[in-house]
Amino acid sequence: MAMRFAPLRHDVLSLIGNTPMVKVTQLDTGPCELFLKLESQNPGGSIKDRIGLSMISAAEETGQLGPHQKHIVEATAGNTGLGLALVSAQKGYRLTLVIPDKMSQEKVLHLKALGAEIIMTRSDVDKGHPEYYQDMAERIARETGGFYVNQFANPANPLAHETTTGPEIAAQLEHRLDAMVCGVGSGGTLAGLSRYFAKAIPECEMVLADPQGSVLADYVKTGTMGKAGSWVVEGIGEDFLPPNADLSRVKKAYTIPDTESLDTARQLLQKAGILAGSSSGTLIAAALRYCREQTTPKRVCTFVCDSGNKYLSKMFNDFWMADQGFLPRAAHGDLRDVIT
Ligand code: PMP
Repeated sequence: MAMRFAPLRHDVLSLIGNTPMVKVTQLDTGPCELFLKLESQNPGGSIKDRIGLSMISAAEETGQLGPHQKHIVEATAGNTGLGLALVSAQKGYRLTLVIPDKMSQEKVLHLKALGAEIIMTRSDVDKGHPEYYQDMAERIARETGGFYVNQFANPANPLAHETTTGPEIAAQLEHRLDAMVCGVGSGGTLAGLSRYFAKAIPECEMVLADPQGSVLADYVKTGTMGKAGSWVVEGIGEDFLPPNADLSRVKKAYTIPDTESLDTARQLLQKAGILAGSSSGTLIAAALRYCREQTTPKRVCTFVCDSGNKYLSKMFNDFWMADQGFLPRAAHGDLRDVIT
């Protein structure tokens, strides 16, 4: 067989997308096959590079961004910010990001290194509160005259997944796919894939993976939205239904506690050698539950949304895990006394 090499590229933005797919054989998948699409391999490190590029390109096409408007404002859990920061740095835009304060330091440092202006706000307030990250970003855009990207309602977000992520998955799995497991942050991934698979692989079931505390899984199961709690997994789970989150094709939803998400990500690294972030832990935990419930073989796909190297100081740090109550404390004193 002829050797195939990745072609030489002349700009980093052309490296966005076309991510690899790997089959996981080291975890118990019951009668099923589990495939992971490694979105962590995008140049900004996450699935959100795709929408960083698509939302800025769409705004340029409609004239919302251009020589007269070079200031972008967005509310983000971090990864959309990284995608936007990567594209902004390449295209010469100024970027202001409003980020809830629970997000990992690695993401914030990466954003600062890319030249983004960061405004931290509270993680413990809901939509409608003036310090809620989305309300704050919208207000800053209004007051400064900047362009508010609004990934939660921007149609270029789901469109990126309908036109790139979906066709890549279909091609990589030769159109043989029974279930696609997604989380919802903005809802762009789920909505875009739902639309694409409705046409390309209509038999493919859309499955929601939701952190415990988020309102979305209950909404799928009961049609009603309860009160949101809190969770440590970053980037997925919501306290409201974003306009982009079209859940109409989702018939099955799993609520995953933080401890199961983090444990799954840690096991994935130890057993399969894949360094994945916290939301990937939630997605893979839900995918594994789905696989193990099946009585006939199914082909199931989900994402490694971002890399675990953004969470080395959190879920891959046993001290942090113990502090948060996710691991028992060391029996013979606390190692921090030795290290510090
Ligand atoms: N995983 C991570 C790590 C994310 O940052 C996000 C987006 N916030 C998602 C998953 C969810 O993607 P989407 O916004 O398309 O629903």
